[in-house]
Amino acid sequence: MKPADFHYHRPRTTEEALSLLKDFGEEGKVLAGGQSLMPLMNFRLAQPAHVVDINFIDGLDYIKSENGFIKIGCLARQSRLLGDSLVRQRCPLLADALACVGHEQTRNRGTFCGSLVHADPAAELPAVLLALDGSVTVGNSTGKREIAARDFFHSYLTTALASDEMVLEASVPEQPARAGSSFVEFARRFGDFAIVGVAVVLVPDKERIADARIALTGVGEKPWRARDIEAMLVGHTGSTDLFGRIGAEVAARINPSSDIHAGESYRRALARVLTRRALFEAWQRARKA
Ligand SMILES: Cc1cc2nc3c(=O)[nH]c(=O)nc-3n(C[C@H](O)[C@H](O)[C@H](O)COP(=O)(O)OP(=O)(O)OC[C@H]3O[C@@H](n4cnc5c(N)ncnc54)[C@H](O)[C@@H]3O)c2cc1C
Repeated sequence: MKPADFHYHRPRTTEEALSLLKDFGEEGKVLAGGQSLMPLMNFRLAQPAHVVDINFIDGLDYIKSENGFIKIGCLARQSRLLGDSLVRQRCPLLADALACVGHEQTRNRGTFCGSLVHADPAAELPAVLLALDGSVTVGNSTGKREIAARDFFHSYLTTALASDEMVLEASVPEQPARAGSSFVEFARRFGDFAIVGVAVVLVPDKERIADARIALTGVGEKPWRARDIEAMLVGHTGSTDLFGRIGAEVAARINPSSDIHAGESYRRALARVLTRRALFEAWQRARKA
């Protein structure tokens, strides 16, 4: 299929892009990597009258460390992040998750921020942002605001972003040096969206767990996290038995739906097993750090 007719715009500055988005309102869409927008337009599931291509704006593709955060400009491609030594050293959870996102070809164009805005409920990167308590900085023609990950994802392909706003940057807190993390997922084929994916970070204090993060993708209409379950790990020594109980707790609490890829009970079973595995792997890594 081919997309419905649309007007194509190529702003050279962020201000110009934001001014166009203000003018077009609901009729306008930002084009970043195009790896989700173009398929939707080709299937005519999205029919924006105006496409605002931000790829010709200089200076939006940065990846840098600033005050304990990795700052990711809205044109930083997933493949550059995956190969970035800063990301590998300071945010290994993100590097692990990126390896599961699509294929080399899609990562070469797809952006980190584009994946956040697209908000596919089975996407890996929103779950990572949620697990690490990251945020996005968004702007419109009158100013900027920062939105925490927990407030950004609303539901299926829906976020807190207003139609005149653009995501300018994502901020991902760097993991403590002694933390261990793991991203595990099950997908039908390598490179497919996860049926269920689990992101875990464990911070040890000697033999015990001092802090824990668990976020899941593929188990509802948006990435899922339960802080009271994380609290059940704090103060305890990591063990197969403990991680098994946490996996069971997660499986009992999520509310997955059935679709053509997997039934609700299968997703629950995956969540239980993958949570246990991710916790175990993160703990092993933390002990070695
Ligand atoms: C074959 C294939 C396999 C894939 N597999 C996976 C997978 O396993 N896991 C996964 O998570 N994803 C997967 N994807 C999707 C891929 O990761 C996309 O790159 C990503 O979802 C969107 O990023 P993008 O930069 O391409 O955004 P685009 O496609 O350009 O845009 C996506 C949406 O976000 C909006 N948008 C983009 N950037 C901004 C911005 N800065 N401000 C405001 N709005 C913005 C657009 O208007 C649009 O609504 C796959 C895609 C393909 C084609």
